[in-house]
Amino acid sequence: MKKQLCPICESGFLHSEYELTEVEHQGIKGTIKSYYSVCDGCGCEQANATDARQNKRAMIAFKKQVQGLLTGAEVRKLRKQWQLNQREAARVFGGGPVAFSKYEADDVMQSDAMDKLLRLAAEIPAVMERLKSLSGQAF
Ligand SMILES: [Zn+2]
Repeated sequence: MKKQLCPICESGFLHSEYELTEVEHQGIKGTIKSYYSVCDGCGCEQANATDARQNKRAMIAFKKQVQGLLTGAEVRKLRKQWQLNQREAARVFGGGPVAFSKYEADDVMQSDAMDKLLRLAAEIPAVMERLKSLSGQAF
């Protein structure tokens, strides 16, 4: 990764670090890695856009785990098993063209309804075939 110049002292470079942070969701406690950047010049600590994105994804992954939803990696695995790209998967299941990229990256949580539909399609091949035909697309 390209070294990022410290925006505060403008002479040092930022290094990514993390600490373990205790989080809570629906009464369940857990620990996530919380990323931040430290300047090797002035020593200041800050969260840049990359840190913020990683931290947000870690929290969403934790919430999915607490709520018993498929993880981003599990959604990706199912989609690959169905031999669909992300856009095709969105045509079959709904959610908009970028839905699967967001589910798989843990950028957003899929709804309970979407989660159930994905599991149903995974368990019953005929459901998958029917969803494909309902989408009106040829796969
Ligand atoms: Zn600095």
